Amino acid sequence: MARRKMQHGTCRLCGNVGDLTFEHIPPQKAFNNLRTISLSWDQAMRLGPDEPVKGKVDQGGVGMYTLCPSCNNNTGGWYARALVTWCYRGMDILERSKGSAPLFHMRGCYPLRVLKEIMVMFCSVNPEMTDKQPWLRRLLLDTHGREWDVGWRLFLYFNVEGKLRYSGTSGSFDFETGDTTVMSEINYPPFGYVLVMDGAPPDDRLTEITHFIRYGFDEMAELAMPMSVLSTHSKYAGDYRTRDQILRDREAGLAAQAEMRAGATR
Ligand SMILES: [Zn+2]
Repeated sequence: MARRKMQHGTCRLCGNVGDLTFEHIPPQKAFNNLRTISLSWDQAMRLGPDEPVKGKVDQGGVGMYTLCPSCNNNTGGWYARALVTWCYRGMDILERSKGSAPLFHMRGCYPLRVLKEIMVMFCSVNPEMTDKQPWLRRLLLDTHGREWDVGWRLFLYFNVEGKLRYSGTSGSFDFETGDTTVMSEINYPPFGYVLVMDGAPPDDRLTEITHFIRYGFDEMAELAMPMSVLSTHSKYAGDYRTRDQILRDREAGLAAQAEMRAGATR
C-alpha cells in the first residue's frame, strides 16, 4: 500500500519523532475505503443540515498521518481485526433492523481488542493525548495492558446518517442542568464512538462499553446490548438532533431574534 507517502512528525502513540504513516480511522477494512469529501471546520460550520457537501474529494477513505510505522503495524495487527469484525456485524444488524431499535448481538467478539482499537483512533485524532495521559501508552502498546483512568467512559451508537465527526477534545455545556462534558467523538458508519473524559455523557441514548476493559486480550465473549441509531447532521460532538429538529431549532432561534429586535425598537 504505497499509495500515500510518509510524513515527518511525532507519533501520537509512542511519542517518537520520525516518519509517520497514514492511519485509516477507522481501519480501512471497516468500510473506510469509500470516496469521502474533506471539509475545513469553517466550511462544515456554515453548511446547513440539508445542503449538499462540496469539497476536496479523497478516494481512499478517511485518515491522518498520526502513527509511526511500528505503532501502525503493531496496533493494526493486535486490535484492528477485532474492530473490523465488529463493524461488519454492526452493518449486518443495522441493515436487517430497517430503522427499528436494533439489539447489537455478537458471538466471538474480543471486547478488549475492540476497546483498544477505538482508543488508538482517539489517540490519533487528539495530538497530545498520550503525552498528557501516559497510561494510554501502557494500555495500548502492551497487548495485555488493562490500566484505565476510572473517570473516563467510552460509548457507542449506530450511525448511518449525517456528517463525519473527527472531533478532538471539546467541551459542551447543558443550559438546563448546568452540566459540563469534556469529550471527543469519531463517527464512521455503522458506528459512532464517544469518549467522555469529564462530566456526564452528552446523550442518554449512548451505549456504554467502558467495561470492555475487564476482558483479557485473548478473551472472547458473546455480547448483546441495545444500541440507538443516531444521526450526526450537525458538526458538534454530542449533538444527535435529526435534520428536522435542527431546522425547527434554527427557525425558533430566528423567531426569538426577531422578537428581541422588535422589543428593542418598541
Ligand atoms: Zn509510534
